[in-house]
This record gives sequence, structure tokens and C-alpha cells, in this order.
Amino acid sequence: MVPEQSLGNFESTSPKMSTITGKTNLVGLLGQPVNHSLSPIMHNAAYEEMGLDWSYLAMPCESKNLEQVTKALRCLDCKGLNITIPHKQEVLKACHKLTEIASNIQAVNTLIPEKNNQWIGANTDVDGFLAPLKNHHLKDKSVIIIGCGGSARAVVMGLSKLNIKKVTIIGRNKSSLDIFIKNMSNLLSSKNILIEGINNQRLNISQYIQEADLIINSTPIGMNSNNTKEENIPLGHKIWDCLSNKTILYDLIYTPRPTNWLKIGQQKNCLTIDGLDMLVEQGAFSIRLWSGFNDVPVQIMKSSAEKYLMV
Ligand code: NAP
Repeated sequence: MVPEQSLGNFESTSPKMSTITGKTNLVGLLGQPVNHSLSPIMHNAAYEEMGLDWSYLAMPCESKNLEQVTKALRCLDCKGLNITIPHKQEVLKACHKLTEIASNIQAVNTLIPEKNNQWIGANTDVDGFLAPLKNHHLKDKSVIIIGCGGSARAVVMGLSKLNIKKVTIIGRNKSSLDIFIKNMSNLLSSKNILIEGINNQRLNISQYIQEADLIINSTPIGMNSNNTKEENIPLGHKIWDCLSNKTILYDLIYTPRPTNWLKIGQQKNCLTIDGLDMLVEQGAFSIRLWSGFNDVPVQIMKSSAEKYLMV
């Protein structure tokens, strides 16, 4: 296991650079699709500010080519890779070592170069998820997560660090929900956190919603849609009638801003958080791991992403 904070190299610094030269280093994103990704915008803005002669590219990659592509990029001295949907689990096979967090949740979103042309797998989604919650006191609170896919694993890992009392996972598919609960329960029980899985068709869900202090949407429901149809709101419209204004809503989605679901929360005077801060912070943590520099211009990354979203 490798400690998350001790990785990276200090090479390749130079005064502000925006032109690609013979010395420019490659970093980038592998996923499918990647053409809507905000990562190139926010990463390249950060490198320019930091004077890193690096260029970040979004590279579409099919699952069947993932192992070959990661190997080839390491041979080309690529300085770091982010990994997105659908490869966060598949890419474990391409890693020589895993950080403790990546190993715990069996998901990797960041590859760090290692000696002998190898990669270390890390996961910065966990710290990215936690960043917008840092000023909220969630000790002994009850949390609901809607969805039980890849990002929900990072969310549970993050929540395990916050001394919460209980986490309820709402899923639509019994078998994936059961596997998720089984995989995550050791981690949570070691911190005395209760975990329960419930089906999204269950009749008494409103009771859980009413009592929750924090509700997180980790499904893609509502993504890229301004249409407020039933299918674009997690769990549909009606259930949110019982929402208390003391509940925090956290949507991992950041397009549109605010999402339809967060609009419902705002109408009820709830505190709402969208996924842009998580996206920016996970990117900033990746840069720290690759470069060894702690001081990453997070605000510049966020404003470049916001500007791009407004175009
Ligand atoms: P994933 O692994 O595919 O998981 C999605 C989960 O949502 C699964 O449990 C899936 O259920 C469920 N789901 C999908 N469509 C549904 C529907 N119509 N009704 C009910 N449940 C549904 O995806 P992921 O990686 O967790 O990503 C989920 C979302 O989070 C995406 O929109 C992604 O963009 C966002 N995200 C944001 C950040 C950030 O930095 N802000 C980071 C990671 C992810 P089944 O298992 O039954 O399919």
C-alpha cells in the first residue's frame, strides 16, 4: 500500500507555459465518452498558473484497449492519467500497486507513474467528495445515498471518515444493492456506522427522507436535462414533498446548474451542493499526486470550468 500524499515528482516546472513545445509533457483522461469532459479545461488552466509545462488531453478509450493504452502511455512517459466511466474498476488490472483508498473501494480514478514503466492506482474522488462538506458537522447524522454504482463507493468511503451514525443506500436493482452493501459493510462497521440498503420502490421511503440530515444523488438521473419530467428527478417528484429544510442535498451531477433535484431543495430552503466542487477538488488532488506540489490553484480551475459551462 502507498500513502496517498507521498507520491509524485518535481520535474517539469518552468515559467508560465501555454505553447506546446518539444519538452511539453503529456497528462490526460481515459474514458468513453470523454468529449464532454471539463477536465482538460480546468487542468490546463491550473498548469498554466503553476508554470507546469504539461498538456492535458481527453482520450477516448474502449474497454478492450484499456490495458494496452495504459501500458503504451506509461512507455511514452505520460506524467499522469485520470480514469473515468466506464473504466474505474477495470483499470485495477493495469496497476502495479494501489493506494489504501483505491484498494478499499476497488476503484481507481488516478494513475501515478512508477518506476519500471508501471502505474500506481489512486482514488481522489473520495477527497473530492469530502471537500464541499468540510464546514458541515455531520457527526452522528443520518445520510441517504441514492444509487449504488462506482461513485457511491467513493461517497461511502468519504462518509466513513465523518463519524456519521447511519447510511441508507437506495437502489433499484436488488442484486447490485446486495453486493454493494456486502462490500461496504466491513468498512462502515469498523467505524460503528450502520448501513442499510432499501429498494427504491419501498413504500416507507418518505420516512427515511424526512429523517435524513444529508441526501446524496449518485445516479445520473437529471444529468444534462432541464426538463422536470418524473424520470429526471431522483425517486420522482412526490417523495420530496416531505423534505425538511434542515436536510442538505448533494447532487454529484453538475449539469445543469442547479439540477432539477437541487431546485426542489432550494424551493424548500435546503442547503444544496452540486458536483462541480467535487470534480474540481478530485482534479486538484490528482495534480498534487502527480506533481508533488501542494499548492494547486483550485479557484482558477473552478472558474475556468464555470466559464466553459456558461458558453
Ligand atoms: P455508475 O457506476 O453507472 O452508477 C450509477 C448508479 O445509478 C447505479 O447504481 C445505477 O443503478 C443507478 N441508476 C442509473 N440510472 C438510474 C435510474 N434511471 N433510476 C435509478 N437508478 C439509476 O455511475 P457513477 O460513476 O456512480 O456516476 C454516477 C453519476 O455521478 C454520473 O452522473 C456522474 O457524472 C456523476 N459523478 C460525478 C462526479 C463529480 O466529480 N462530480 C464524480 C463521479 C461521478 P444500476 O446498478 O441498477 O444500473
